[in-house]
Amino acid sequence: MILLVRYGEIHLKGQNRPHFESLQLKAIKRALREFPNAVTQKGYGRFYVTGLTEEEMPRAVRAVCKVFGIHSVSPAVEMKKDIDSIGETMIRLVREYMETKGIKEASFKVQAKRADKRFPLSSMQLAAELGGRILEAVPELFVDVHEPDFNVYVEVREQCYGYVDIIPAVGGMPQHSNGRAMLLLSGGIDSPVAGYMIAKRGVEINAVHYHSFPYTSEAAKQKVIDLAKLVSEYAGRIHLNVVSFTDIQTQIYEKCPHEMLVIIMRRFMMRIAQKLAEKCGAQAIVTGESIGQVASQTMESMYVTNSVVSMPVFRPLIGMDKLDIIGIAEKIGTYETSILPYEDCCTVFVPKHPLTRPKLDRIAEAEQALDIDALVEEAVESVEHIVIG
Ligand code: ATP
Ligand code: MG
Repeated sequence: MILLVRYGEIHLKGQNRPHFESLQLKAIKRALREFPNAVTQKGYGRFYVTGLTEEEMPRAVRAVCKVFGIHSVSPAVEMKKDIDSIGETMIRLVREYMETKGIKEASFKVQAKRADKRFPLSSMQLAAELGGRILEAVPELFVDVHEPDFNVYVEVREQCYGYVDIIPAVGGMPQHSNGRAMLLLSGGIDSPVAGYMIAKRGVEINAVHYHSFPYTSEAAKQKVIDLAKLVSEYAGRIHLNVVSFTDIQTQIYEKCPHEMLVIIMRRFMMRIAQKLAEKCGAQAIVTGESIGQVASQTMESMYVTNSVVSMPVFRPLIGMDKLDIIGIAEKIGTYETSILPYEDCCTVFVPKHPLTRPKLDRIAEAEQALDIDALVEEAVESVEHIVIG
């Protein structure tokens, strides 16, 4: 068996193509690292994975389908370049496919492609000949060239391949092909999804988590590490910065009006995130906010939190409903972990009536009670650095 791996948007990238392809190759190899005999090679416009056993194939397919930039995959068989071997093999493949899918009766179409001109039949002739042989051998099938229930593919190139299934993969851009961003990662549902979405565009993720020990527990921190691990299955290695936030929160609590706690706290999160981003060469900040979800996510609040940083702040979930975000969290496998009931630093110091329409000048004025630069500096200094994935 061989796995054909097709990639998506790389062809758009002209000059960068070799670079993108080598990143893509690296990501596929990484996804297949638990299969020591798997060998991945670049072919023309796609990759080929050999060395997988039939038993390993379904797991390998799942792993490769998670690799950003991959469009679709097909487990295929290699055949001898003569019509009798092709016919016999493809009849067997079609039978197996019908059996696993529980198909009793169906229409099909043969899609043949002859790139090797030494092969005596043209693409059309090969499709017709093979279609005839399959029809004869499998009487439950009939041909429909317009809307077939399934396709049977044969490619005669350097080698000769046959397959029935084209399994859609995640799409996007190759891992680490589009710069680096600093993700504000909480233990909630949204921020892991935001990280996934930005990473899907090829952005390398570094993350920061604000931890308020002893108000938030070790278990709460571990939950964030677990979430980062899950996101790293797609996004690749993640450098997670755990920032001790207790001192900042306590000082805000003591020195600033309580209805401003959340907004001032969020401004500190942004300032620290920008500092850490600059340190690691990230060009943007990413959050899991969406408009109106909570008091700190109104247009006014986001304006006020944004204004302490000069870096672009990307919010991939900005226009999404919670249910849609949950749908993605379930699909990528972070939801179960996100809903574990541990406290977040945001929930510890939350006032009864947070401002939903903060005014920038009033917030900035209230912050004067704090030594902002020293607090930010101290937080950045105290960072715990964890490498994940
Ligand atoms: P999430 O589900 O991602 O926690 P949320 O709906 O609970 O989001 P908030 O708690 O207001 O909303 O957080 C908004 C965003 O701020 C989060 O998506 C995340 O990017 C960031 N954030 C919140 N708490 C933390 C934290 N403790 N550490 C790092 N980032 C955080
Ligand atoms: Mg939260």
